[in-house]
Amino acid sequence: MKKILILGGGVGGALVANLLSKKLKKEAEITILDKSPKHIYQPGFLYVPFGWENPDKLVRDQESLLNKNINFVLDEAVYIDTDKNLVTTKNRGDIGYDYLVLATGSHVAPEQIPGLKETGHHFYGREQALNLKQAIENFKGGNVVTGIAGVPHKCPVAPLEFTFMFEWYLKRKGLREKTNMSYVSPLPRCFSIPSVSDMVTPWLEERNINNITFFNVESVDPKAKIVHSIEGDSIPFDLLMLIPPHRGAKVITDSGLAESAGWLDTDRYTMRVNGYDNIFAIGDATNLPVSKAGSSAHFQADALVGNIISDIRNEKTVHHYDGHVMCFLETGYNKATLLNFDYNHPPNPAQPNYLLHMAKILFNKTYWWTLPQGRLPNTPIKDKKSLQDCPDC
Ligand SMILES: Cc1cc2nc3c(=O)[nH]c(=O)nc-3n(C[C@H](O)[C@H](O)[C@H](O)COP(=O)(O)OP(=O)(O)OC[C@H]3O[C@@H](n4cnc5c(N)ncnc54)[C@H](O)[C@@H]3O)c2cc1C
Repeated sequence: MKKILILGGGVGGALVANLLSKKLKKEAEITILDKSPKHIYQPGFLYVPFGWENPDKLVRDQESLLNKNINFVLDEAVYIDTDKNLVTTKNRGDIGYDYLVLATGSHVAPEQIPGLKETGHHFYGREQALNLKQAIENFKGGNVVTGIAGVPHKCPVAPLEFTFMFEWYLKRKGLREKTNMSYVSPLPRCFSIPSVSDMVTPWLEERNINNITFFNVESVDPKAKIVHSIEGDSIPFDLLMLIPPHRGAKVITDSGLAESAGWLDTDRYTMRVNGYDNIFAIGDATNLPVSKAGSSAHFQADALVGNIISDIRNEKTVHHYDGHVMCFLETGYNKATLLNFDYNHPPNPAQPNYLLHMAKILFNKTYWWTLPQGRLPNTPIKDKKSLQDCPDC
C-alpha cells in the first residue's frame, strides 16, 4: 500500500483526500495532517461585516467532511525532508510518505506594512470580520478607503465585492451622501484581468467611488489616519479596509521549498511541484498564474489526483489542469456576476443580476455537502482549444 500524506485539510486538501480515497480504496493509505480540527468556509466572511452571516455557521469539524477510510491527524507540520520522504510534526514526531500533497493554503501578513495591523480592517478571518462589523456599525460618515495592500491575495474579487456591498449598505443607512469612497489598487487597473477591469471600472464611476490605481501601499499612519503609497501619494481615511499582503505556509519556506513569500513552484498543468516526482501542490499554496480561490483548487484536484493514480498504477496517462477558475462577484443591490475562465479563455462576465446573486448564496449554503466530497462537476469551458493548439500557453 502506498502512503499518501496531505498537508492541510482546507478546500484543496479535503477534496483531494476524498477523491483519492474513493478511487484508490485498498491501493493507498491516505492521511491528512492539519494543525486545526476545524474546516472553515472562508467565502462566508464577506457577509459577516454586514451582519448577513453568522461566523459560527462557517465552521465544521474537519473529520465530518472526510470519507471514513481517511486518517485525520491533528498536528502542525514543521519540516519536510524531501530526501527522506518525511514530514516532521510539532507533537507526533515524523510521518513518512510515498506521495506528498501540499495544500497548506495562504495567510494574511499585515505586519509586512507598517501601521496596517494597528488601524486597518479586513474580513479575511473570523475576528477581523467581526471587528470590521463593529467599525462599520459605528461609522457615521467620512472618508472610506478600501482596496488591496499586496498581491497576490486570495479571492481577488473579494475587496471589490466588499466595496460594492458597503456602498449599498451606506445608502440603506442614509450615510452615502456623507461618505467619500476610494478604492485603491497597486495595479494599473482596479482588477488584474483586463476584461473584468473594463467591466467594473464604470460601476465604480457610476457609484461615485474614486478608482485609484498604481497605489502600492507603503505604510499607514494610525495617528494621522493617512495611508501612504510607494508612489508618493497619501489618502486620509476615517475607515480603512485593506486586504493585507499574503504569504504561503511557514513550513514551506522553512523546508527550502519556496522563496520568502512561500509560493510553491508548481507545474501549471500536472500540479507537480517542479523538481520533485512525488510531491504535488494545490490551491493557494501554489505559484500558478490563476486566482487563489477555492474554485481553482476544485478544478485542479482532478489533474492532481489523476497523476498520482497514474503513477501508482504505472500508467502512461498524464492529466492536465486547464487553468479553470469560476468566481461569483457580488455587486450589491442583491446582484452578482460570474467570472468563468481558464488559461485559454478570459472571462466574459454577464451583466450583474439577481439570479447569479442567488446562485452564489445557494453555493455557499450547500458547500458542506458538495465541493469537499467531490460532488461538483469539473466541466471544462466550451469550445476549448486542445493544448496542442496552444503551444505557448
Ligand atoms: C473573505 C474570503 C472570501 C473568499 N471568497 C471566495 C469565493 O467566493 N470563491 C472562491 O473560490 N474562493 C474564495 N475565497 C478563497 C478560498 O477560501 C481559498 O482560496 C481556499 O480556501 C484555498 O484552499 P486551500 O485548500 O488552498 O487552502 P485553505 O482552505 O486555506 O486550507 C489550508 C489548510 O492548511 C492548514 N495548514 C497550513 N499550514 C499547516 C501546517 N504547517 N501544518 C498543518 N496544517 C497546516 C490550515 O490549517 C488549513 O486548514 C475566499 C477567501 C476569503 C478569505
